[in-house]
Amino acid sequence: MNRNEFRSEMIRSELEDIVGQHFVSVDESDKLVYSTDWSWMPQMWLDRGQPLPTPDYIVHPDSAEQIAEIMDIANKYRIPVVPWGGGSGTQGGALPLFGGILLDTKRMDKIIEIDEVSLKVTAQAGINGEQLEWALHEKGLMLPHYAAASRCATLGGYLAPRGTGTISTKYGKAEDMVLNMQIVLPTGEIIRTAPVPQHAAGPDWPRLFLGAEGTFGVITEATMRLDYLPEARLMRAVLFTDLSKALEAGRLIMTRRLHPFVIRLYDPESTRSQVKKVLGLDYEGAYMVMGFDGDPDIAALEEQKALAICTGLGGQDVGRAPGEAWWEHRYDFYYPPLSLHLPWMYGTTETVTTYDKIEPLYWAVKRAVEEGFPEWDIKFIAHFSHWFHWGVMCYSRFIIEEPPADAQEALQLHNRVWQAAMQAVIDNGGMINEHHGIGLKLGRYMRQQYGDAWPFMLRLKKMIDPNGIMNPGKVGFGF
Ligand SMILES: Cc1cc2nc3c(=O)[nH]c(=O)nc-3n(C[C@H](O)[C@H](O)[C@H](O)COP(=O)(O)OP(=O)(O)OC[C@H]3O[C@@H](n4cnc5c(N)ncnc54)[C@H](O)[C@@H]3O)c2cc1C
Repeated sequence: MNRNEFRSEMIRSELEDIVGQHFVSVDESDKLVYSTDWSWMPQMWLDRGQPLPTPDYIVHPDSAEQIAEIMDIANKYRIPVVPWGGGSGTQGGALPLFGGILLDTKRMDKIIEIDEVSLKVTAQAGINGEQLEWALHEKGLMLPHYAAASRCATLGGYLAPRGTGTISTKYGKAEDMVLNMQIVLPTGEIIRTAPVPQHAAGPDWPRLFLGAEGTFGVITEATMRLDYLPEARLMRAVLFTDLSKALEAGRLIMTRRLHPFVIRLYDPESTRSQVKKVLGLDYEGAYMVMGFDGDPDIAALEEQKALAICTGLGGQDVGRAPGEAWWEHRYDFYYPPLSLHLPWMYGTTETVTTYDKIEPLYWAVKRAVEEGFPEWDIKFIAHFSHWFHWGVMCYSRFIIEEPPADAQEALQLHNRVWQAAMQAVIDNGGMINEHHGIGLKLGRYMRQQYGDAWPFMLRLKKMIDPNGIMNPGKVGFGF
C-alpha cells in the first residue's frame, strides 16, 4: 500500500467511524452516479464517453453533529466537501470537481414540526420537496415553493441556490419563505439563525447562506413559512399579437398590486414550439397564462381586473380551458419525453431585471444567440415568469439539435454561446441568473457581475471557510 492509498484508507475509516460503514461508499458505480448533476456539460461529457471527476467518498450523514465531525476530517486532511441534495441542479453546483467527500443529505429527511398556528414547518434539509408537500397537504397546508424540480429536489437544494417556484409571483422565492436555519459551518461549528427574519437586531447575515450553494457550509435544517391550500385557483389565458403589449400588461398587473400567483408569458417562438408541443394549443403570438387563487370571490374580482388590463392592451381572452391546460401540464415541459434532451445542446440563460430594461434585454440576448453563430442552426425560445413589483425574470433557452459530435468541440461551442448570452445580459443591466444559481457554469461571470464588490465577497469566503474545503470551484470562488 503506497502513501496515498494509506491516507485514503485512513480517511475512509474515520468517515465510517462517524456515519457507519454502510453509509460510506467508494464503489466505482456510485462514484459515476455522483459525477454529474442535471447540467448539460457533464451529461454531454458522459454521453460522449468521456470521464468526469468523481468523488473519493460518498457519505450519507443523518445529523448536523455527524456533518460537523465530517468537516473536522475534511479540514484535517484538507479535502473538499461537496453538499448534494437531489442532484437536480442545472449549473454544475454539486459536481465533485476535485474529488473529496460527496455529502449526500437525503438521509436527513425528517419533518420535525408542523405548526398550524403560526403556519410554519421545520424539517431537515435533505427532505424531498414532493414528500414534504404531501405531508403538508394532509393538513390543508402548502409550502408555496412549487418548483418544477420538487420531485427530484430537496429543501436544502431549494435554499442553497435561491430557487424560485411556479407560484412565486404571489408567494415569493424559496428564500422569502425561510424563517430560520440550522447550518454547519466549514469550521465544524453548528449554528442557528434568529427565530424570525424580520427584526432589527443587527445585519441580515443569515441571507449569506442563501445563494452560497454550499460554499459557505451545509444547511441542515430549515423552518419555512407556510400557506393554506387555496380554496380556489382560477386560471385564464390571453393571447397577444404584440409581445411588448403583453409585457406592459404584466407590469400593470403587478404595479397596480393585483396578486396573481402566476403569470407566464411565452414569446411567439415559444408559443409556436413549446406551447404547441406540450399543450397542443395552436396559437400565433404571445400566449399568456395567469392565475388567481385564495378566496373565490376575491380571486374572481382580481382576475376580472387583470383581464381588463390585458384586453385594454389588445390581448384576446381565450378563456379558462387553455389556462387550465397549462396548470395541469405545467411540469411536462421539463420532463421526458417532452423536455430538451441529449444529444441536443441546450442551455437556460435565464435572467432578471427591472421593467424599464426587460424588453431590450430580451432582444439583446436573442440577437446575441441567434445572430452570433450563423454556422449553427440555433433556436432561441423564452418565457417571462416570476414577476415582481419592480421587474420580471426572462427564462430564455438556446437549442442546437445537431451540435458537434466531438465532446470538446461541443463544449467549446456551448461555452461560446453562453459567453455571448451572458455578455448581453450584463451589458443590458440583467443579472446572470435568477433561480438556477451560479454553480460551476456561471462562476466565470461573477467578477464582472459584481465589479468592485467582488473582492469583498472573496474575503467573506476566506473568513467563513479558511481552508477552502467547501464546494471548491463554485459560485466563482477559487479552486
Ligand atoms: C426538471 C427540473 C426542473 C427544475 N425546475 C426548477 C424550478 O422550477 N425552480 C428552481 O428554482 N429550480 C429548478 N430546477 C433547478 C434545480 O433543480 C433546483 O435548483 C433544485 O432546487 C436543486 O435542488 P437539489 O436538492 O436537487 O440540489 P442539488 O442539485 O443537489 O444541489 C444544488 C446546489 O446546492 C448545494 N446544496 C444542496 N443541498 C445543500 C445543503 N443542504 N446545504 C448547502 N448546500 C446545498 C449543492 O452543493 C449545489 O451547489 C429544475 C431542475 C430540473 C432538473
